[in-house]
Amino acid sequence: MHKPQEGDARIAYLEHDVYHCPDDGQQLLFVPNEGSYRCDMCGGVLLSAKDIDSEVLESIMELPEVIEEGLSTECPTCSTDSDLSDGETALTNFAVEWYYYHTQTTPIGTMKVYQCGVSNVGHCTVCASTWFAGPGEFDALGRALGKNTTRIWREQFRRLGKKEKLWHISGGERRAIKTKNTFGVQEQSLLRQARLAGVETETERKWKEAASRSDNLCKHVADNGKMCDHRKSAKSTHDQDYCYKHQPE
Ligand SMILES: [Zn+2]
Ligand SMILES: [Zn+2]
Ligand SMILES: [Zn+2]
Repeated sequence: MHKPQEGDARIAYLEHDVYHCPDDGQQLLFVPNEGSYRCDMCGGVLLSAKDIDSEVLESIMELPEVIEEGLSTECPTCSTDSDLSDGETALTNFAVEWYYYHTQTTPIGTMKVYQCGVSNVGHCTVCASTWFAGPGEFDALGRALGKNTTRIWREQFRRLGKKEKLWHISGGERRAIKTKNTFGVQEQSLLRQARLAGVETETERKWKEAASRSDNLCKHVADNGKMCDHRKSAKSTHDQDYCYKHQPE
């Protein structure tokens, strides 16, 4: 394949070049009306230089760079170019704060749940494409993102460059600003504050829950952070801090 140039980028899109997800190897799907490619496995989205809002792209390049030992994400576009060696096609990664509202149906009605986290955005210095990695499995509070995540995630990209209300916490109060660019310095800093405040509240809630628990309950904590609600074992041969199920080996 040749290096995409301004003029033949169109042709490349019409031909739907085959690209693969740099995070899981899944073949990316071309989305004609958006000009983007997406991964249905992890939710990642690939935008070419002409399909991304220029203000958004400028802000992304100002985000803190992610320097992680051993982390190398290949540009999905350039890695198909055999003229370039592996090292040359690595993306420059930036950390981005993200959020969305996710509507949940519960027995008492629908609820809007705020989910936020940090993920990587990779930019290619060769072809200028941008790869938005998927959000992963959990949000910043350790809550599972659910099975519709990839759809909700890629819908965020319709918001790019559009005005929206960004809620944040300031002086203990909820306030909103209107912005077209959630990747901006101020916006990212507000999102970061909201994320950290959320994590703090969640940790506090867990501490309170642990402190208010009856002394008679098992001390086991499951992988998902849930404490066991069985009674401690009273058997003399047992470790009496734990229930009969969670006896230390
Ligand atoms: Zn993927
Ligand atoms: Zn590239
Ligand atoms: Zn237990």
